[in-house]
Amino acid sequence: MKKVLLSACLVCFAIGTANAQFGKLNPKKIEAGLKAASAFTVSDEDIAQSAAASVKWMDENNPVCSVKDKDPKKKAYAERLERIFGPYKNYDGLNLNYKVYYVTDVNAFACPDGSVRVFSSLMDIMTDDELLGIIGHEIGHVKLEHSKKAYRQTLITEAAVQFAGSTQGTVGDLMKSNLGGMAEKLTGAQFSQSQESDSDDYSYKFLVANGKNPQALADGFKKFADMEKEYGADKSMGSKMFSSHPDSEKRAKRVEEKIKKDAKKK
Ligand SMILES: [Zn+2]
Repeated sequence: MKKVLLSACLVCFAIGTANAQFGKLNPKKIEAGLKAASAFTVSDEDIAQSAAASVKWMDENNPVCSVKDKDPKKKAYAERLERIFGPYKNYDGLNLNYKVYYVTDVNAFACPDGSVRVFSSLMDIMTDDELLGIIGHEIGHVKLEHSKKAYRQTLITEAAVQFAGSTQGTVGDLMKSNLGGMAEKLTGAQFSQSQESDSDDYSYKFLVANGKNPQALADGFKKFADMEKEYGADKSMGSKMFSSHPDSEKRAKRVEEKIKKDAKKK
């Protein structure tokens, strides 16, 4: 059976282990650390550098599909994403780059530097237009600076833990001390429900502006809703994960209501 990871984002399926270590820490230590972290600053440059380092680590530690791949299956994934995403490389003043990871998790994520990564199992499930809806949603997280905010918050929280009681240390130190762990935490950072809704709205506009039917976004969410029904009851898949996440069915409905409203305007 396929391993399906559904995160808070439902589209940007986070990596499940992202915050696992935090629970083991002494709350007093965290409190002291948070006080120290208030003096800890994260510059735009820090975010850019930690994003570049995280994406590089993720790319090196996941099987990346390439259009030059000898494996025809991997080559086909890369070619398909190129065909779908290629025309939007510089959409909305952004400088985006994209790759497919050949993995079984149903996932996608975006980073503040404009890197978008799509997992092959997500591509298996979605049609081209549904994928474009998800891509539009991820572009939304970049454009609306949700990714940047999530990075900043994750870096501050990590500094609180790592540099507890001290103002010593930089973002560079954090990244150096545990690059893989930081990369997973940063790329797996969760967004708030309102950020998710805003990114859904962004994707809706993105699809319409590019001559696509926004129904594709709703259809994508319906597929997620079906997966939630299928896997949600399975404890081994972490039914707890689903309960805290935005409801895909509601998100699909929200898109469809918007479509109806827009049709009336015409
Ligand atoms: Zn999202």
